[in-house]
Amino acid sequence: MLLRIALGLGPPRGKPLLVRSVTTREPEWTELDRAEVLALAEYRASLCPCGCGYLTSDTTSRWETGPEFDATHTTCRARAALVEAQNAEAERKRDTSAWFWSISMQEKG
Ligand SMILES: [Zn+2]
Repeated sequence: MLLRIALGLGPPRGKPLLVRSVTTREPEWTELDRAEVLALAEYRASLCPCGCGYLTSDTTSRWETGPEFDATHTTCRARAALVEAQNAEAERKRDTSAWFWSISMQEKG
């Protein structure tokens, strides 16, 4: 019976019911959502395509008049621990191609 009603057929032996359903939905994206996504897209499009994270207008500016850039680096100690462990296994000539590596962190103290 539930199936008949769900299909719009009505109860058994009854006349088929004409079922009309109207679905109203909230828009998935508000105007603010759309504006923010567009702003993000514009921002991303303005970034240097090399991946440095700076604006293309700065990175491609004239050497004489544009900003100065200095390069430094920091080390991800978690990645360094992983690379060290992987290199140690490689030196032992072990086949680690099926290994799943993970990194754990222990707080000091
Ligand atoms: Zn760049």
